[in-house]
Amino acid sequence: MTMNEMIRAVQSALGVQVDGKAGPETWGAIYQKLVQTEQTAPPPQPNTADPRSEKQIATLLPEVRPLARALIEKAAAAGINIKVISGLRTYEEQDALYAQGRSAPGNIVTNARGGYSNHNFGIAFDVGVFEGNRYLGDSPKYKAVGVLGEELGLEWGGNWKTIVDQPHFQLRPAWATSLAERQMLAELRGRLSSNTPAFA
Ligand SMILES: [Zn+2]
Repeated sequence: MTMNEMIRAVQSALGVQVDGKAGPETWGAIYQKLVQTEQTAPPPQPNTADPRSEKQIATLLPEVRPLARALIEKAAAAGINIKVISGLRTYEEQDALYAQGRSAPGNIVTNARGGYSNHNFGIAFDVGVFEGNRYLGDSPKYKAVGVLGEELGLEWGGNWKTIVDQPHFQLRPAWATSLAERQMLAELRGRLSSNTPAFA
């Protein structure tokens, strides 16, 4: 096949004038077909998750929601059943959690007071691994899910040095890329009190 025949065949397939010369019309049609459609096509939306997860996902910032759903899908594709079991916590809820094992009965579950957890800003969520309806608090599958989360651009609590928190995932805003955790939290507190969006 000569180049001229090739161009004619492409032009015919594109539905533009068939003259064997690839000018602006032909290239425009090629561009539209290969490049523009890709840019204008809406990003694939993961399916809605199970009701329990969706209830938690709804408390997260809109930027984080599709990632939580995508993580559930990715895990399912790897044969791991996870649910989002925790999302946003208000400062009051965080304080109540902090009191557990200190001034209130129970075991210590967090070292963060209100305003000092990423959960207080809608950027973090915790997952649970399930086998059927049974929740597994401890399973090697958390590690596998952690890898999948990182592939999605999420930070995984399993990599933390101080408190390893394998069920925990969070989406770090771009402005916080080089910030320490406590610096990011300070900025998030400031943004929340001044009504500045976390991802602006
Ligand atoms: Zn968490």
